[in-house]
Amino acid sequence: MILIVDDKSENLIALSKTLESRGFQIDTAISGEEALKKVLKHPYDLIILDVQMPGMDGFEVAEAIGGYSKTADIPIIFLSAVNVSKEFITKGYASGGRDYLVKPFDTDILVLKIKTFIKLNQVQQSLQTEIEQRKLAESKKDEFISIASHELNTPLTSVKGYLQLAENSLGKQRLDQTKIFLERSKKQVDKLNHLVADLLDTTKIASGKIKFNYQHFELEPFMQNAIESIRHSYPGKQITTTGVSLSGISLLGDENRLEQVMLNYLSNAIKYAPDSNEVTVDVQLLPDKHLQVSVIDQGIGISHERQLQLFEKFYRVEENANRFQGLGMGLYICAEIIKRHQGTYGVQSETGKGSTFYFKIPINPVMADLN
Ligand code: ADP
Repeated sequence: MILIVDDKSENLIALSKTLESRGFQIDTAISGEEALKKVLKHPYDLIILDVQMPGMDGFEVAEAIGGYSKTADIPIIFLSAVNVSKEFITKGYASGGRDYLVKPFDTDILVLKIKTFIKLNQVQQSLQTEIEQRKLAESKKDEFISIASHELNTPLTSVKGYLQLAENSLGKQRLDQTKIFLERSKKQVDKLNHLVADLLDTTKIASGKIKFNYQHFELEPFMQNAIESIRHSYPGKQITTTGVSLSGISLLGDENRLEQVMLNYLSNAIKYAPDSNEVTVDVQLLPDKHLQVSVIDQGIGISHERQLQLFEKFYRVEENANRFQGLGMGLYICAEIIKRHQGTYGVQSETGKGSTFYFKIPINPVMADLN
C-alpha cells in the first residue's frame, strides 16, 4: 500500500484516483502529523510526500520517518510545485527521500518510479531477512559445535581413564580388573561410535546422500532383535510387548535403518524416564496394511508446545537439556528414515506422566515410491 501525504485534499484525491486506476492500493494523510501516526501503524510500501505543508513540512516528516527503525526503510518520493531549486532538491535527498519530482509531472514516469522503488525495497528486505537467517544459523552452528565437542569429549575422557586403570592393573597382574576396565572403555567407544554415526547421518540427510537398502525381511525376528539389544544394554529395565503377533509377516524396507528407529525410540524411552523401569512396545497391523509401532514410557513427558519441534534437527527440550546428555539428532534421523519408508510418525505426551512415540509404515510399499 502507498501513502500519499498532501495538505490539499484536491491533490490527494486526484493522485489517489490516478494511482488506483493503475492498480495500486492507496491510503492518504492530510498533514505531516497524520502521516507519522499512520506510518507507525501500517507497513507501507512507499510514501509520496508533498514538500510544502503547513505544520511539519515534507522534509521534517521524512526525517522523522527515517528515525524509527520500523519505518526507516520505506522509500519516499517528494513532490513539489514550488521548491525546485537545487538547494531544496539536495535537502530532499538529505532528509531520506529516494526521489524528488517537480509538479507538473508525468504520471507514467511516476508509476515507473513507484514500481522500481517498491521492487528495490522488496529485494533489500529479502536480502536483509536472508542475512538475519544466516546469522542465526551461524550462531546455532557455533552452539552445536560447542555441545558436540563436549558430548564427544565426555566418553573420550572416560576411555582414557579406563585405559590408564587397565594398564595399572595389568602391571599388578590383576587380569580380572583389567578385563573390567577394558569392558568399560569398550562401552564408551560404542557411545562415541554412535555419536559419530549420527553426525554422519545428519550431514548425509542435509546433502541428500543417505542411502537405503530396501529388502523384504521378517518382522518378528526384527522386533525381537531390537528389543533384545536394548535389554542387553539396559539390563535393569523391563520391556513389555503388547499388540498383535508378527509371526510370518514380512515388510519391504531397510531393516538396519528401521532398527535404528526402534533403538532410538527405545533408548530415549529409557533415558528420559530415570525414575521408571517400564517400557512398553505396542505393535499393531492396521487395516490399511500398515505396521504401527508405539514405544510407551512413564518418563518425564514433553509439554504440548514442545512436541511439534521434537523431530527437528538438533532440537532438544530446553528445560531438560542440562539434565540429560544428547545432541538432538536421534529423532531427526528417525523422522527422515520413516519418511523415506512412506511412513508417518508422532508423539503423544504429558509432562510428568510419560510419552508415546509411534511410527506407521506401509508393509508392502510400491518399490517405485521408495527412494
Ligand atoms: P537427544 O536425546 O540426543 O537430545 P533426540 O533427537 O533423540 O535427541 O530427542 C530430541 C529431544 O526430544 C530430547 O532432547 C528430549 O528433550 C526429547 N525426548 C525424546 N524422547 C523423549 C522421551 N521418551 N521422553 C521425553 N522427552 C523425550
